[in-house]
Amino acid sequence: MRIILIGVLGSAAVRRTRILLVALVGLAAVVSGCGGGGGGGGGGRLSVVASFYPLVDAARSVGGDRVEVTNLTPAGVEPHDIELNPRQIDRVAGAALVLYLGGGFQPAVEDAAGQARQAVDLRAGLAGADPGDPHVWLDPTLFAQVVDGLEVALVEVDPAGADGYRARADDYRRRLDELDAEIRAGLADCGRRTIVTAHEAFGYLARRYGLEQVAISGLSPDAEPDPRRLAELADLVGRLGVTTIFTEELVSPRVAETLARETGAGVAVLDTIEGVTGEADDYFSLMRANLAALGMALDCR
Ligand SMILES: [Zn+2]
Repeated sequence: MRIILIGVLGSAAVRRTRILLVALVGLAAVVSGCGGGGGGGGGGRLSVVASFYPLVDAARSVGGDRVEVTNLTPAGVEPHDIELNPRQIDRVAGAALVLYLGGGFQPAVEDAAGQARQAVDLRAGLAGADPGDPHVWLDPTLFAQVVDGLEVALVEVDPAGADGYRARADDYRRRLDELDAEIRAGLADCGRRTIVTAHEAFGYLARRYGLEQVAISGLSPDAEPDPRRLAELADLVGRLGVTTIFTEELVSPRVAETLARETGAGVAVLDTIEGVTGEADDYFSLMRANLAALGMALDCR
């Protein structure tokens, strides 16, 4: 908040009335930030809370040095249906901006967002998104729409940083465009098109690039399949000549490994990017690792 106020005072000669208003809004934000648990963020930066990793990556990239982004989902934890402790709820209430995906993906976050000063459901209004399936970040073109919403939210909360937010959002969308073209080319000519995944996270990705997803568990990873479902999957793996059963980083690979053992298929990781485990990884490196894993599994040229 301090940065905004300094910026505002610096341009005071230009438009005094508007500036006074903005300064008052800024002051109100600082005051309510003190009451709500520190909305100013570290080093005077705008405090942004994002509900899980892909939104954290986008918010850090688009926010740049002006924002301090906190992830509500702890490292190594799978984000579906996370519970929030009282400290996290305070953090949501005190942040200048809270970013999440609505529609029942993380109901505790949606509840807490009701207490936030400014909370934005970045899934609302996405063209081409299915209301039942939260995994929009795994289609780069849908994720670009999420970035549109993020840019609007940051500009609204911190108008003094608008030029930077717009430029960095453009850059992030350009990188998503490149990624989309790369995946399209990489999956254009493959021996097979069916992927067997741990949970139903890759529906948008499959739709975008003409693949068929068969998932061991449903849209949320907690439901384990019954023996009948496993037998059906084993049959399908044999019939379609599937060579790879995909597992995830944040969910136990036990069931996938059983299926692989029964069918003679191998096991590989297809990352849902619902959290990040490696220090050097980001959204783009993980998507490219996924492309490589898909290329191997589907015998793409
Ligand atoms: Zn998921």
